[in-house]
Amino acid sequence: MSWKDYIKQNMFPLFTCSGCTHGTVTNAFVRVADELKLDKDKTVIVCAIGCAGRIPTFLDFPVLRVTHGRALAFATGIKLSRPDVKVIALMGDGDALAIGGNHFIHAARRNIDITAIVSRNEIYGMTGGQYAPTTPPGARATTAPYGMLEPAFDTCKVAEGAGATYVARSDAYHVQHLQRTLKAALQHKGFAVVEVLTSCPTQFGRRNNLADPAKMLERIKEMTVTKAQAEKMTPEELAGKFVIGEFVNTSRPELTDIYAQAFAGMGV
Ligand code: SF4
Ligand code: MG
Repeated sequence: MSWKDYIKQNMFPLFTCSGCTHGTVTNAFVRVADELKLDKDKTVIVCAIGCAGRIPTFLDFPVLRVTHGRALAFATGIKLSRPDVKVIALMGDGDALAIGGNHFIHAARRNIDITAIVSRNEIYGMTGGQYAPTTPPGARATTAPYGMLEPAFDTCKVAEGAGATYVARSDAYHVQHLQRTLKAALQHKGFAVVEVLTSCPTQFGRRNNLADPAKMLERIKEMTVTKAQAEKMTPEELAGKFVIGEFVNTSRPELTDIYAQAFAGMGV
């Protein structure tokens, strides 16, 4: 087995616009899948609508592509019916946190053994450049032509507050960090969330003077700091920055185990 066995080679090239970092996420995921030698017969990837949601259609795994925002709802059903299968939900930020926001917090509350990878490109890409719950204040979108007026979600704090037992953030610039983070999340038992800062030069960049993909990557580099760096910074210096690293790595009873114990010996 090599990393090539984890992609559908006949599907390439990727559907993405030039300079879109969803290719980077795809690459990192495939390399980690190969490193962990994920069993393709015991892994299901669930995705929904949007550019990030289309990544799994290039991965050589059983893939369930569902309605917008419902990746975690379907993933929950799969995991409950087949606890022996590794379930991964690969989602965009609008998908995971707006339409699917309720599923997100309840999957975290339940601590169901699913790895949730959330691509934060700060916009709805495929559906037309509308603002998302992650669009930064002041940024322009088709539905915010004068700039975003609402504050943005902190995905990791939402996940932690709702009870996820693994929470981390990485980004598409620090690729090795991204691979290490995905690897740790995929090995975690319980609800694991990885937020990945990505770039959408087409829908976000063109509206925000960042149409050049290299500028968007530069922006990710500039707005990310490690936990060690963040500890030495003032709140003013941290404004607008994203801390990358692991925020939660703990354990508590996992949902399918709780169900198995509750019904043990009852023949159901
Ligand atoms: Fe990537 Fe944005 Fe193009 Fe979608 S619209 S493929 S997120 S650059
Ligand atoms: Mg998005």
